[in-house]
Amino acid sequence: MSLPVHNPATGELLAEVPALGTEEANQAVNAAARALEIGASLAERSNWLRGIAEGLLEGREEMARLITQEQGKPLAEARVEVDYAAGFFRFYAEELHHLEPRPLPQPIRDVPWTIHHRPAGVAALITPWNFPLAMLAKKLAPALGAGCASVIKPAELTPLCAIALCHIATAAGVPAGRINLLTGPPSPIGKALCEHPLVRVISFTGSTATGKILLRDSAPHIKRLALELGGNAPFIVFADADLEAAADALMANKFRCAGQTCVCANRVYVEAPVAAKFEALVCERVAALKMGNGMEDGVDIGPLINRAAWEKVERHVREAEQAGARRAFGAAATPPENEWGCYYPPVVLGGVRDAMAVFREETFGPVVAIATFNYKGEVVGRANGTPHGLAAYLFNADAEKARWVAAHLQFGHVGINTGTGPTPEAPFGGMKQSGLGREGGLEGLFEFTETQTVAGS
Ligand code: NAP
Repeated sequence: MSLPVHNPATGELLAEVPALGTEEANQAVNAAARALEIGASLAERSNWLRGIAEGLLEGREEMARLITQEQGKPLAEARVEVDYAAGFFRFYAEELHHLEPRPLPQPIRDVPWTIHHRPAGVAALITPWNFPLAMLAKKLAPALGAGCASVIKPAELTPLCAIALCHIATAAGVPAGRINLLTGPPSPIGKALCEHPLVRVISFTGSTATGKILLRDSAPHIKRLALELGGNAPFIVFADADLEAAADALMANKFRCAGQTCVCANRVYVEAPVAAKFEALVCERVAALKMGNGMEDGVDIGPLINRAAWEKVERHVREAEQAGARRAFGAAATPPENEWGCYYPPVVLGGVRDAMAVFREETFGPVVAIATFNYKGEVVGRANGTPHGLAAYLFNADAEKARWVAAHLQFGHVGINTGTGPTPEAPFGGMKQSGLGREGGLEGLFEFTETQTVAGS
């Protein structure tokens, strides 16, 4: 059995990959466990990571094309994704000294004490389709660095970057069995990984609904879970903000990957006196966006990943308008005829209210939905009024007010006067139903280790 992989812009059949299941998942875990029997020093692991970073950058253009072909995002964005992914391998290559044993400064109860960071064991890495390379790099780099062996399950729609990354890792000297890859339908593979006793860590990026399934299925086995789940990011613009800069930041934040990112602004809150002006600045910028096949020059917005994604965006826009929101910019979208070519022209909605689906759920599309607010306590309460807590952004000129607002926002990542998202050097992750654990930074490395305290010598 095999699974076809199509280009979401054109429908071109790019490849067919094996449709693997429970049996192969168990074999992959056993192979990973056997690979762990041959240890690897910190220096060896660091070399692997450095080699993978170099391999990615050497093949940057080819890898970027593969991202665009299987995911649909513009080529310029795909190149940035390759650099971002390489950054995780480079960062962890330099940070593995933090895994050296740490002796306590003096004996306690007459014996020496040492803290060790042991590899956690076999790690299952499950990744989504929106950043087919970077979401895997965020997990694979720290897993390899920590000394774990991995079993990867990429999204069915975008398995090709994961396959390419495995080849780069092999060329960088990573021994057979340290990295194993499973392509196939998610449920049987996911269940097998949750239930296999040798899987010690499950690192997952995807929807909150799937995260809950993994938590449930792995609960009887008490596994370590790192979950990077859905977001519903507020983007708060106060009246004293630099509105031009805030509008520029919103554009860069919102339209990456056609709005299909977990950190992009989903709810824009603008202080009432400047709402009309800010909306006009956003509409001006949105009008200049070019939609099309990501392989073409100058394209800003590619297709949505499939018809279901298109239908969700359309439902959000339709329901918002029916409930009184105003279309400030945007042409009517043409329903797609296939699973590919699902383009959704960008839309700006004004007069949005918190109860609308476009604010309650992640839209995952090129829609800027704008509501107004009157004071900071009100907007913080409304921003926090969601089960999600991944990323939030605020724009204002008063540093003290910004610090107060940031401290009261229940989100793992807060941007002040910037719409920038995560970076390899800093921990990133969600509060509340946006997840458990962190990726990036030293925190991301320790997700794949077990701390062992040895007393005596
Ligand atoms: P998804 O449906 O949860 O899929 C994510 C991954 O999980 C895919 O590999 C999928 O496989 C797999 N999967 C699905 N059901 C599974 C199961 N029962 N057991 C094991 N694996 C299973 O999420 P998505 O719709 O592809 O991705 C979009 C979501 O990811 C959004 O909510 C977004 O916010 C979130 N996201 C979060 C972050 C973050 O850092 N927090 C980053 C990016 C995306 P198949 O593809 O084969 O179905």
